[in-house]
Amino acid sequence: MRTAIGLVLCFFLAGLTPLANASATSEEDWPGEPIDNHLHMTWAALTMEVNDWADNNPDIVKLIDAGDSELGKTLWVLQISDWSMETKANGKAKEIIYIDGGHHGNEYLGTALAWLSAQFYIEGWNEGNQEVVEVLQSTELHVLIMLNPDGNDFDTRWNINQVDLNRNYDHYWNTCPTTQPGSAAFSEAETAANSQYMNTYVTDADLYVTMHTGVWIILYPWGKWASQPSDWELFHGIRDDVHANISDIPIQNANQGLYPNCGTSRDYGYGVMGIPTFTFETDDEQFVPGSVEALNERLEEEMDVMRYLISNVWYWRARLDVQDIQVSDEEVMLNVNNLGRASTSNATLQFLDSTGMVTWTSSLFSVNATNSTMAVFDATNLSYSKDGSWQLYYQKRVIDASKWVTEPLEINATVLDDDDGASFLVGYGLFSPTTILVGLAVISLLRKDELEAL
Ligand SMILES: [Zn+2]
Repeated sequence: MRTAIGLVLCFFLAGLTPLANASATSEEDWPGEPIDNHLHMTWAALTMEVNDWADNNPDIVKLIDAGDSELGKTLWVLQISDWSMETKANGKAKEIIYIDGGHHGNEYLGTALAWLSAQFYIEGWNEGNQEVVEVLQSTELHVLIMLNPDGNDFDTRWNINQVDLNRNYDHYWNTCPTTQPGSAAFSEAETAANSQYMNTYVTDADLYVTMHTGVWIILYPWGKWASQPSDWELFHGIRDDVHANISDIPIQNANQGLYPNCGTSRDYGYGVMGIPTFTFETDDEQFVPGSVEALNERLEEEMDVMRYLISNVWYWRARLDVQDIQVSDEEVMLNVNNLGRASTSNATLQFLDSTGMVTWTSSLFSVNATNSTMAVFDATNLSYSKDGSWQLYYQKRVIDASKWVTEPLEINATVLDDDDGASFLVGYGLFSPTTILVGLAVISLLRKDELEAL
């Protein structure tokens, strides 16, 4: 049983609003209470809630102690997935998503959105919600709801050392006008623990959302610079999708959309971890005095955006899908689609002999987001044999920090004998090994399960 206080999320003014109007069921209840003009959940109430979730849902919830705050309060991380399956049903690794909230202890609705994100998938699983089941069978959600429990319980932006935790990360720390960034990058227990968690559990994540309040806006990198991030196509594509189908919430580069800031978890998540990162700012109107509003209704539009970002995480990187490889004495031709929303550069095609040794590596090629490329490489040093195999080696995104992936190909090359002619593209072959961009056709986005069945 949860604590009695705060069973209904409301701002109750006696005589103005009948409490009976509150429609939230017990499963939807915020484990905190309204204080003044905002919502408040203590660290103690959160601790009860996350332990209840883990105890009651061992099939999908693991509770991790990610370290302590400066005052020794545990930083809880929920790991939510269908833990009966180590991988997706098709044997491939699950997608990984990181969510945190509560950097600023007085931004309760941001903390609430992190809480609601965890709750949506836990409750949805128990209700058999098909969208949720599909997500949890293919994805690990890692959610740290309250990063600054000391500041939260004192109702202050800062941590107990009066440091702004969202200026304390090791990405261009203290290199722009800012207040209270701490004595050094990761000087604070909370940010050090968060980066430790990120570098231990979510290095392969393809989405990081960090939740705040302020103005109603979603911010993508950079805060440090006004320029667009290297993977601008990915961020702009998400912006356009959200605006076309879900919400009018502004989505901008953080430096332009808010103000220059540095040492933030967002810029660290993208610039150092290489993960597509968003700051989700709910607005300051935490709720209207005199109204009774369930949290899931108050944040319904924000949750719609979160569900879109989570359900489509498969697309938030480059996804190279080889159509065809042709080999002649002099050249190798690769026909490849990028099914993801991010571009990749510095990709190579590699040939492995029958023992699995890489014996040939192509020159570098690039494939733009949702585009196709035909690349022709010099094959002079290739010793092709039919019992060998092929693999791709490339970065998931353009940002330097992005993860590299090695993907074995289940495709047999077509071998052209001399009678077929040694060069695939007469004339173009002269420019080999330059990558030749042949088509810019946008590939329609198929469902990821169809794609992975290919
Ligand atoms: Zn904030």
